[in-house]
Amino acid sequence: MCKTNNLEVMVKPTNRPKVDPLRYGIRGINLLGEEKFEKALECFEKALALRSDDPNFLLNKLTALVSLLRYEEAISLARFIVETYPFETCTFSAYNHLGTIYYCIQHYEEALECCKTTMTFPGNEAKRNADKCKRRIRESQGLYDFVTLKDIQTLPGDIDCSEYIGPIKIRDEPSKTASGRNQQRLGLECTKDVGAGTLLFSVVTLFTHPLSTPGITEASVTKQEMDIIQESMQHYFTTCDMHCKRQLHALYSTMGAMQRNVELDDFRYHKVVTSNIKPYNREKSNPDLYNLPILEREQIAHIAKYAGRTIPCQGWGIWSLAAMANHSCIPNACCFQIKGFLFVFASGNLKAGQEIFLERGNYRSMSYPKRIERLGFKCECPLCLLDAQETEKSFKTRIDCIDTFKYYCGQPQQSHERYISKLEESIKSIKKTYSDQDRILQTELETSLRTLGLVYGDYNLYKKGIIIYLQLITTFGFSGKLSFTKTKLPQYPPIHFKIQLQGNLLFEHTYLFMELSRLAKILGYQTLFRQSLAISRLAAFIHQGFIPKEHAFYELALACFEKALLLSPDHEGLLFNKLTSLGSLFRYEEVLELGAHLTIVKQSTEIKVYQTLAIAYYNIEAYEKSIECNQMVLGFQPNNAEAKINIGRCVERIPERDHGRYNFDKIKANIIKTGRLDCSEYIGPIKIRDEPSKTESGVNQQRIGLEVTKDVAAGTILFATTACRIQKELPVSWGEHETEWCWGLWSLASLANHSCLYNTGTFHLEEILFAVASKNLKAGDEIFISRGDYTSLAYPKRIEELGFKCECPLCLLDAQESPNSFRDRKILLDLYRKNYQIQVATSSSRGQYTAKLQDLVKKLKNTYSDSDRHFQFEIEAPLSTLASTFNGEKAIVPCLQLITMSGFTGKLSFTKEKLPPQDPPIHFKIENEGFLRIDHIGLFMNLCKESKDLGYETLSRQALAISRHAAFIHMGLSLQEHAAYFKTMGYPNQYLTFRDTVDAVESRVEFHPVVYNFHLFK
Ligand SMILES: [Zn+2]
Ligand SMILES: [Zn+2]
Repeated sequence: MCKTNNLEVMVKPTNRPKVDPLRYGIRGINLLGEEKFEKALECFEKALALRSDDPNFLLNKLTALVSLLRYEEAISLARFIVETYPFETCTFSAYNHLGTIYYCIQHYEEALECCKTTMTFPGNEAKRNADKCKRRIRESQGLYDFVTLKDIQTLPGDIDCSEYIGPIKIRDEPSKTASGRNQQRLGLECTKDVGAGTLLFSVVTLFTHPLSTPGITEASVTKQEMDIIQESMQHYFTTCDMHCKRQLHALYSTMGAMQRNVELDDFRYHKVVTSNIKPYNREKSNPDLYNLPILEREQIAHIAKYAGRTIPCQGWGIWSLAAMANHSCIPNACCFQIKGFLFVFASGNLKAGQEIFLERGNYRSMSYPKRIERLGFKCECPLCLLDAQETEKSFKTRIDCIDTFKYYCGQPQQSHERYISKLEESIKSIKKTYSDQDRILQTELETSLRTLGLVYGDYNLYKKGIIIYLQLITTFGFSGKLSFTKTKLPQYPPIHFKIQLQGNLLFEHTYLFMELSRLAKILGYQTLFRQSLAISRLAAFIHQGFIPKEHAFYELALACFEKALLLSPDHEGLLFNKLTSLGSLFRYEEVLELGAHLTIVKQSTEIKVYQTLAIAYYNIEAYEKSIECNQMVLGFQPNNAEAKINIGRCVERIPERDHGRYNFDKIKANIIKTGRLDCSEYIGPIKIRDEPSKTESGVNQQRIGLEVTKDVAAGTILFATTACRIQKELPVSWGEHETEWCWGLWSLASLANHSCLYNTGTFHLEEILFAVASKNLKAGDEIFISRGDYTSLAYPKRIEELGFKCECPLCLLDAQESPNSFRDRKILLDLYRKNYQIQVATSSSRGQYTAKLQDLVKKLKNTYSDSDRHFQFEIEAPLSTLASTFNGEKAIVPCLQLITMSGFTGKLSFTKEKLPPQDPPIHFKIENEGFLRIDHIGLFMNLCKESKDLGYETLSRQALAISRHAAFIHMGLSLQEHAAYFKTMGYPNQYLTFRDTVDAVESRVEFHPVVYNFHLFK
């Protein structure tokens, strides 16, 4: 009985009017396009309710779930699809999604497995993604490439990098000795012995909030910001994603590592985290800005500029794991952040089981009562415990004594001796205010002692200066065994110092050691100089993330050498050091000037002078001069391998600079090997036009333009120029090579006017842009470069995207069309997207669509005022789809149609005669009226394949040669790279082995030019 009832219920829907599930499916796809993921998901679920076994609906539902970040459901759905529908397309899409999900939730090993599966399918980005996974896996082991991370820092959006939990755990017992804002006194501890500078962990922020109001006080901030923080915390509890949950787990796992399935207690979590709000980049990045003399203040601003930071960068952030650590004013761990990622380092040598302390705000130099007030809780760190024993009177007198010191500073006496002794006396009186004047951690003395140090420097009392700085270094908790010998040290290779260290490297040590190194250098304590510099760099790295690349210390060092040169202007060693600093800062003009002084006036025999000069000459493309300098080096050291290699490099650069002859294979191999581009700029047969361009406008408002100075053939390099500025985007895999899309500003290229139908192709290697003629140009012809490919957009939209009224032949034609024409075309194109685009591409019997598509294309052509008009780029997509529905002989026709429409109208061969074997290769001369654009790379490959299958051997080999020609012009691809790419696209080897070449010989007419289209390859 029961069963019958159920059956009835199930049968019922069939009595209703029939609904086509496809309609829901298509509506869903449109909603996905509009990023309305919730609604799209509803549609796919409705479609699945009607047809539950349709793999396309399931895949679409998967896309919607992934877009909604509902990863857990998405994972089980993807697994279901893979098991139930083991066809290629389903498996591929599902694994693709799975890979993305695992990547997002930081399960990189699983993501890598998915990439390995998808790698077996042709033409996708699995290899690039696999490389990303591998990088993330290395990062999750604490191996970060900070140089690359810093580069990424200049980009908008989140940083792509993995978290790392190192040798730390949450303490089993609350901390006893030191308090923090963390009310339960939970704390972190080390699980093994680690050295100063070890990365302990790195975590992504739960929340950061920048504060841009200058001069805002901390009390008011706390009040205002707390509300925002509370609110955002609430937001995290309601929308907690898997990643956030994982952090919550980490918080509650007493094992310290990532345990899953831990019961969450929102209330407790909330309490812990909000009681541990850690200011980020606040004061920490610039505490000394307020205390330093003017000169250094500017230097720090300069360093900050190099490090890509704006100086008043203040804000708040919450890093849950960091929030677990208790506070100490003399912390043994420190951190810096890059784009929301917090990197936490040991700042002293830590033993297994030792508690890890971070500081919340740097208030060390403040008087104790003020410090406690700022912190907002009674700190029990060693410094505060000591200070707490001092009397009220002691704090007050100390402030008075410090004021007295400041007063004396501003009152220079007649004699230095008297001035200095006044200052020394008042320092003594400050020290006396402590209950024990030899007490450790007299941090309040910082500013006074530093000032005295600078005064000593001004009066050449370097030894006294060194003593003061050593005193300060110790005051801030560092007591390492430094070397005070005067032994000479070799420059190369760099030395790795092992210094017995007690205490922690605090932020202040960055500049304290830098100043010490300056004084040590002047006095000839070479080991001390080198050790101090190395320690300063370590401190700068763990506290601020400075890496040598940022040149922070070259600037500081240069300033130091210049200060010293004021005292002793002819000091050869100092001049030589200044030269090295200038070279490291790429200030080549100054290098050449100073280098000439050293070599000619001083008759210097320092080999390094010639080496620095050789580099400077190389970098300003004076390769002949560079060779001379390298030969001088060889004169001193006949076996100097570096000089020999450098001469070889110069010899390779000269034909590039003078004739535009580049060995791209070698240059690219070098990029892969070293990560750097090594080649010369080149200015070929071009000049700036005498008169502004008349027929075409550009972004260039004066319509200044470039023209060729002599006849050149398609494929000729016109110029190669370095970017003024370049912004790299994510790497994209191109065949076997990874290339990067980027935005850049190339001043020479920007002089050329724009045309949607440009006659010059561009590609770039790293920062150098190569401009290549994409058709034969006559002397005096203007050069046009495209700024973005909008040819397939409707005219009004294209003009909007370009941002100016383009007057190229395509736009001029389009401007004559009526508004109705655009409207009718849009309606038809919408119809195409809705009914054919996906359906045909995924169909196994495409032939059924031919008639309908032919009809549609005809209607589309009729929307133009003249249905046989040139440049109907808007209907390129339906035309391609139509082409894909043909087989055999018929397929060639639309193939050729597309090629012609894209601007190439050369006379190809349609005979079926046999050609000689592939060696020697044939050089085809094809009479051509048209341009080669980037689309032709793929279009001619299609033609190559179709015609070969039909036995048109000449046509096939011509098409291959033209495709390669276009691939060089627009992408700088070599024969091998072209073959490698099309192999990944599924082209069999037999289509790729020929090495024929092509010349497009000029024929009479002006022709159908060129467009830009990347999506074929994306
Ligand atoms: Zn304290
Ligand atoms: Zn245009």
